[in-house]
Amino acid sequence: MNHNFGSYAGGTWSSASTPASSIEVINPTTERVIAHVAIAAPSAVDQAVAAARDALPGWSNTPVSERAAALRRIGDAVAKRQQRLTEVITQEVGTPHKLSSIIQVGLPMSNFGRAADTAEQHEFSEEVGNSLVLQEPRGIVACITPWNFPLHQLVAKVAYALAAGCTVVAKPSELTPLSAIELTEAIDEAGLPPGVFNLVLGGPAVGEHLVGHPGIDLVSFTGSPRAGRSISELASRNLTPVALELGGKSPNVILADADLEKAIPDALNKCFMNSGQTCTALTRLIVPEDRLDEVEELAAEGTAKWRLGDPFDKATRLGPVISKEQQASVRGYITRAIDQGARLIAGGPDQPGHLPRGFFVQPTIFSDVKPDFEIAQEEVFGPVLSILSYRDEDEAIRIANGTRYGLSAGVWSADPARADKVSRLIRAGQVDINGAPFNPLAPFGGSGMSGYGREFGRHGLQEFLAPKAIQKTLTEEKNHA
Ligand code: NAD
Repeated sequence: MNHNFGSYAGGTWSSASTPASSIEVINPTTERVIAHVAIAAPSAVDQAVAAARDALPGWSNTPVSERAAALRRIGDAVAKRQQRLTEVITQEVGTPHKLSSIIQVGLPMSNFGRAADTAEQHEFSEEVGNSLVLQEPRGIVACITPWNFPLHQLVAKVAYALAAGCTVVAKPSELTPLSAIELTEAIDEAGLPPGVFNLVLGGPAVGEHLVGHPGIDLVSFTGSPRAGRSISELASRNLTPVALELGGKSPNVILADADLEKAIPDALNKCFMNSGQTCTALTRLIVPEDRLDEVEELAAEGTAKWRLGDPFDKATRLGPVISKEQQASVRGYITRAIDQGARLIAGGPDQPGHLPRGFFVQPTIFSDVKPDFEIAQEEVFGPVLSILSYRDEDEAIRIANGTRYGLSAGVWSADPARADKVSRLIRAGQVDINGAPFNPLAPFGGSGMSGYGREFGRHGLQEFLAPKAIQKTLTEEKNHA
């Protein structure tokens, strides 16, 4: 698969400037190069921003119902490509095929319709005293996204930005550009006015040029705290606002009365899914000291069911991690946790014997993890679960809140009032009680090192809008009446 695409601007693809400036897309299961994609030159980024600028007056003044109809057409065009997109993402990310189909593609596909509904239900104006307060689109949004849920992250931004009346320049991760190309083709097919959506491909250098561009009105970023910090600094030179969705080290608090037979399999799922490469992964399992043995036994037993292998194989529950660097990084965390005194109860740092090729990491569990261990503080972004024990509920909450992150959390209890009380005390943007499912209309985001943006539903739409007050004199109001 070869794409000589450097960028999609003003409704057309432009080809690469020089063959040297291309990205090798590597399949993490086979370690083979599956595509070459051209890196957008700075002039191509400038062109994409200019196209978004030209398209802004028309799109921002398009009635909401027409914008919503366009989003639904994109959703339909993505749905037509569901099978193809599932294959592409299974190849470029390594997510098991079934999960790719449901979560990597099915969820974002339906989010176009949700963004359309949200915009149609939104009050874009209200009267406050003698003011008419309008909510206007912020303008041109740079959407920069990571590789772990490449389509989902991109759609979370693009669908809501377009619904709000903004125009977009998107830059997906250089590790997973293929799903973004497919999405762009779906958007193209849906027939949006040229320049409303633009795509530039490449790595951090392309991202930096985009973020530092004076024509950008808002940067919406999802990725690592490291890049988030650097993007914030760069954007501040033009005083460009930034919305950040960053990493996590999220707690899963098992209260003394929890049903462990349900809680532990769910805890493994919430940690290991997508090979642990999920920003909301619940990677710290916080359990009552007197139930630690039971938890360890259930966790070790459950982990044996997480079969590692080829993501196209139906029996596989865990694919590889994204890259050789990521594999080395995760193994480094595992080795250092052992050195620091954590007790390994499943997995370990070695390449699994039956998989000599591919960036695989064994699902790994540590017990006897102390709150100040590196493995309990740093985001690993691999299939590694840390078990920490507590004596009383206050200590459980202290441990849960004892990192610099604040993205998500789980709470398990047989008593709804107790679960509710503890959920309110945990610093996190979202808390799931007893394994409750993801709600694609609830606000999603964090605090601290997890960033401060919000995505999805009406709170997500709001990110792309800015209020404007028009004051009317009392006479005008009277005449109007
Ligand atoms: P990353 O920060 O390395 O890269 C993310 C994107 O930013 C990529 O497109 C990359 O090319 C670009 N980029 C990197 N440095 C840049 C710079 N200096 N200027 C401009 N652009 C730059 O992150 P990643 O490795 O792709 O993704 C993993 C991280 O993303 C994890 O920390 C994970 O927790 C986080 N994440 C957060 C959420 C969330 O919603 N909170 C969701 C998914 C992933």
